[in-house]
Amino acid sequence: MQASSAPDLEALLARIAACRLCRDAPTGAILPHEPRPVVRVSGTARLLIAGQAPGVRVHRSGVPFDDPSGERLRDWMGIDRAAFYDVARVAIVPMGFCFPGHDATGGDLPPRPECRAVWHDDLFALAPQIETILVVGSYAQAFHLRRLGHARVKGEGMTALVKRWRDFTQARPHLIPLPHPSWRNSGWLKRNPWFEAELVPHLRAQVRAALTPRGGDG
Ligand code: SF4
Repeated sequence: MQASSAPDLEALLARIAACRLCRDAPTGAILPHEPRPVVRVSGTARLLIAGQAPGVRVHRSGVPFDDPSGERLRDWMGIDRAAFYDVARVAIVPMGFCFPGHDATGGDLPPRPECRAVWHDDLFALAPQIETILVVGSYAQAFHLRRLGHARVKGEGMTALVKRWRDFTQARPHLIPLPHPSWRNSGWLKRNPWFEAELVPHLRAQVRAALTPRGGDG
């Protein structure tokens, strides 16, 4: 495994923390509030949660998945908050680092595209130790499958992709596509009982493996 450069990663994370691109030079509408990037990466975490974007509650707290979605995600993963928020073991990188604002119906806007254009490639180049990626929701799925060279089935939606999770068990990094754990997907979970019966046990086993220290891990 190639080692990441800790000073380079720290420097990049500092630049992300200071980013104001969506206020000062947005590609679309100006971000309607002060940026607050929420992203957690280290040079040692082997597990990555690749999500969508912070919601308003996470924008206020600065803590990713500090909401009912996070509770459900931790339940799927079979870990507690202490393990989930151990940045030495778990990286959390959404497609948009800042809360994107609300649309006219009160829903969250899509992740800002500026993040993907400016930050993601450099960030993942500095985290080569990542071995397992929980790819949460359609935006992260589109990006990470393309980035890692996985073909999509034409017209394939999120459900069809999650359903063929076994196609990615041999991939390196190992990918596990997941629906967003939002309460809005409670109906989806009821309609797709195979998810909790088949995929969640696999997910828990992979999370356990990714969090288990190896000889040489600090
Ligand atoms: S969403 Fe991304 S690009 Fe936009 S201000 Fe936040 S960190 Fe910068």
